[in-house]
Amino acid sequence: MNELDSELIRQKLLNEGYIEVENEKNAEIILINTCSVRKKAEEKAIHYSREMKNKKKTVVMLGCLAQHKREELLKIAKADIVIGTKSYEKIIDILLDFERKQTKRAICEDLGIFQLKSRKVKEGEFSAYVNIQHGCDNFCTFCVVPYTRGREVSRKASDILEEIKQLEEQGIVEIILLGQNVDSYFDGKYDFSDLLKLIEDETKYIRRIKFTSPNPRDITMKVIKTIAQSEKIVRWIHLPLQAGSNKILKRMNRGYTKEEYIYQALTIRDIIKDVSITTDIIVGFPSETEEDFEETIDVVRTVKYDGAYMFKYSPREGTPASLFKEQIDNETKGRRLRKLIDEVNSVISERRKLMINKEYEVLVESYNSKDLGYSLGKTFNNISVLIKGFFKPGTFLKGIVKDIKGHTPIIEIRN
Ligand code: SAH
Ligand code: SF4
Repeated sequence: MNELDSELIRQKLLNEGYIEVENEKNAEIILINTCSVRKKAEEKAIHYSREMKNKKKTVVMLGCLAQHKREELLKIAKADIVIGTKSYEKIIDILLDFERKQTKRAICEDLGIFQLKSRKVKEGEFSAYVNIQHGCDNFCTFCVVPYTRGREVSRKASDILEEIKQLEEQGIVEIILLGQNVDSYFDGKYDFSDLLKLIEDETKYIRRIKFTSPNPRDITMKVIKTIAQSEKIVRWIHLPLQAGSNKILKRMNRGYTKEEYIYQALTIRDIIKDVSITTDIIVGFPSETEEDFEETIDVVRTVKYDGAYMFKYSPREGTPASLFKEQIDNETKGRRLRKLIDEVNSVISERRKLMINKEYEVLVESYNSKDLGYSLGKTFNNISVLIKGFFKPGTFLKGIVKDIKGHTPIIEIRN
């Protein structure tokens, strides 16, 4: 989401005559787009801002941290300008104003959804993010997003489609739809599955449609069936689990039980042929016992993920869970995280082995500088693969998995 915001802001500045420089040494203005999901990201952004101020740059802080801390960032990060997540529309005026008056300030007005009239694609780009929804209304107790991105708003399907058409005319073949809770997308007429169908039917050159993230409590059979029947929607679902214990899920306010989650994941595996399922998991949420943690491991073994992002719980200011009394010590979190990573690695290995000798369509993403003689790409079920030989990024190939290196299948192209 931040990557896309940065790209849209970059384009807005370029349209107004600002110039982008390769090396930060030569920049007059440094824009820092920040994340607040975990503490480490905040600390990094603040540190970088102070470093740039010591080098006498004009520093603009954007993103979730900007929205959350506002004026405070002028002091703690020494930033010159702080712009919240809903004020990007005004960025040019704000920069010009600073140039004239040199007054430090924080702007966090709600100016609605930030979108560009026309999007430009960089030379050679073949994949693009597209926002479909902003904000989140779920208020999971650990999460800062509802406070930094505000209430959930869906973009109009016609605006989304228009943007995708502009992108495909410029060579984009893959789009990744973004929202915090895509399954609750509704623009007054289209729900999420209608939107997927609309994009599938109305695009000419788009060959892959991906989306992230759905919340397990809102995924419908209609969406699952739409994916199963589609030739463009990638067979991959990111299904954030967060925790396996019902006690913890309840305290997280996730809105589903372990049993409902497992049932849903297995139904997805059943209905969408060859689907891959990935997840997000938090260890050490307040009051998590060893037994609770074992429930998480149990879900990992039952669902058998194809990939996972795993985090130690990080208390976020302003969220309910940060005030819960039974916080878990860092050592326990570290131990649980290491065990979880081992378990996830072992199920991933199991899943990858099933790919051997099967044929896959691959979208080439880049040349590989680490393993010479190979290109990198993704299958239609979103598994990263190595492809023997050099192929142009953005092209589609078919090949057979001959081997697995670590967790990466090696594909040989069929001649
Ligand atoms: N909308 C998505 C998640 C967005 S945040 C969903 O509902 O799942 C991305 C991930 O960061 C989350 O899935 C969660 O695993 C992690 N995360 C969020 N807040 C966190 C916190 N306070 N500590 C640790 N991890 C956190
Ligand atoms: Fe945060 Fe996702 Fe929960 Fe929304 S649904 S509060 S973004 S974790």
